[in-house]
Amino acid sequence: MSNWTTLPFSTRFSELPNDFYTLVSPTPLENTHWVAWNQPLAEQLGFTSDDAQSAELKAALSGEASFSAFKPLAMKYAGHQFGVYNPDLGDGRGLLLAELTDRYGDVYDLHLKGAGLTPYSRMGDGRAVLRSTIREYLCSEAMAGLGIPTTRALGMLVSETPVYRERIEPGALLVRAAQSHIRFGHFEHFFYTNQMENLQLLADKAIEWYWPHLSGDEKPYAAMFECIVDSTARMIALWQAVGFAHGVMNTDNMSILGQTFDYGPFAFLDDYETGFICNHSDYQGRYAFDQQPRVALWNLSALAHALSPLIERDDLERILSQYESALSRHFSAQMRSKLGLIRSLHEDGKLFNGMFELLSQNHTDYTRFFRALSCIDQAGRQPVIDLFIDRQAAASWLALYIARCELERDGEGQPLSAELRCQAMRKVNPKYILRNYLAQIAIQKAEQGDFSEVAHLALLLSAPFDEQPQHDSYANLPPSWGKKMAISCSS
Ligand code: AMP
Ligand code: MG
Repeated sequence: MSNWTTLPFSTRFSELPNDFYTLVSPTPLENTHWVAWNQPLAEQLGFTSDDAQSAELKAALSGEASFSAFKPLAMKYAGHQFGVYNPDLGDGRGLLLAELTDRYGDVYDLHLKGAGLTPYSRMGDGRAVLRSTIREYLCSEAMAGLGIPTTRALGMLVSETPVYRERIEPGALLVRAAQSHIRFGHFEHFFYTNQMENLQLLADKAIEWYWPHLSGDEKPYAAMFECIVDSTARMIALWQAVGFAHGVMNTDNMSILGQTFDYGPFAFLDDYETGFICNHSDYQGRYAFDQQPRVALWNLSALAHALSPLIERDDLERILSQYESALSRHFSAQMRSKLGLIRSLHEDGKLFNGMFELLSQNHTDYTRFFRALSCIDQAGRQPVIDLFIDRQAAASWLALYIARCELERDGEGQPLSAELRCQAMRKVNPKYILRNYLAQIAIQKAEQGDFSEVAHLALLLSAPFDEQPQHDSYANLPPSWGKKMAISCSS
C-alpha cells in the first residue's frame, strides 16, 4: 500500500451520539473504475500522484473494501422541501466515510454519494446515475474555479451496475469533499423532534469545528447564526452576480457554511432572464433565478426558528434583519468589480438598472456581455453593441458607462487606464461557464464510454477567467437545442 493510509483521517462526526446518524456500510457497485480524479484537490488533501493508481485507495473510497480509518455513516437530517416540512430526510444514498485534514490544516469531510441503501432512503434505491454525477462533478469544480464557495469533487467512479430511472442508466459514485455536510435541516430535525440537548450539542460542535473563535463569545449561538446569515448572503450574491440558478433550495440543501451544496437541476443563465426556472419540476417557480435571494431568507428564517431554544428572539430578529443589507453589500461589491468600478457613486444605481433593463429587454447572453465589456481595451465597443438587438440603446448605455469609468482614479490620483480596468475585469467576468448543453454533450459521450469531454471541461472550467483561445468555441452561444434547458430532479 502507498502511504495514503497514514494521512490524518479522523471520524469526529461518528463520535456524536447515535441520534445524529446511523452507521451503514456502503453497498459496492460492480466493476467500478475512476473516470475522473481531481489531482489538484487530491494533492491539497495530501494524496500523491501515484495514489490515483492505488487499487487499495480505490477500494476504500468506493466502499468496496473497509478501511480501518473510515467509519461510514448516514447523517440524519430533516428539512423544508418546497416550503413543506419533511421530517423523514437524511443521507438516503450518500455516506460520510471520514474526515481528512488537508495540507493547510482545514478539515474536509469525505462523502461517498451513490453508496447504497440507508435507513433514510425512503422509496429510493440509494444510487446515483452517471449523468447527475457528472453534472455535480463538473459544476462543483466550475464553481470552485469561479471562486464561489462550494463543496468539491475528489473523484468520480462509473460502474457496470445498472440503475433504473426513466431508463436504465450506469450507476456511478461521487467522492465529495466538503468542509461540512451539516445542513440547515440538521438543526430542524432536533428542533422538531424536541431533542434540545442534541440541538445544543450540534451548535456546540459546529462552533468548535467551524467557528472556534466564537467559543468565548458572550452569545456564541447568536454569533454563529450571524456567521451563517452573512455567508449565506455572500453565497447568494455571488450566484446572482455570476448568473447561477441552484434549482432546489430546500433547507436540506443549504450548508451552514454558505457553500453551494447538492447540485441537481442547476443552470447558469444563457440569456439574461430574471424569472428563469431551471428545475423541470418547479411548476410555481419557487426557485426561479430571481427568487433565490428571497428564498435564502425564507430558509434562514426556518433555521432561526429551529435555533430559537438557543438564541433569544430579539437577537434572531436582529440578525435576520441584517440579511438584506449583507446581500446588497456583497452583491454591489461584486457587480462593481464586474463593471471595473472601484468607487461607489450615488448615480451608479441608475447605470446598473439601465444595464439590467437593457440585458433583459434584448435577451442578451449574460456571460458574454460581461466578458465583452472586459475586453473593450483590446476589441473596442462594437462586440458589446453587437450583443444587443437595440444597438442604439446599447451604444447609449455604453457611452454612459465609459464616462463613468473615466471618473475612476488609481492610487496616485491619475485616471485609471482602460487596460488596467479591463485586466481586473477579466479576473471576475468568466469567459467559460458550465452551460447545460456543454454538460449534456460530455454526458452523452461518457455514456458511450468516452470520458475525454468530461476531463476537458473539468480542466477548461478550472480556469474560467483565462482566455484559452484554442477553446474559444466553448464560450459561444448555446445552439438552439441547448438553450434554457430545464433539468429534471431525477438523479
Ligand atoms: P435531493 O433531492 O438529492 O436533495 O434529496 C432529497 C432526499 O432524498 C435526501 O434525503 C436524499 O438522500 C434522498 N434521495 C435522493 N435520491 C435518492 C435515491 N436515489 N435513493 C435514496 N435516497 C435518495
Ligand atoms: Mg439534498
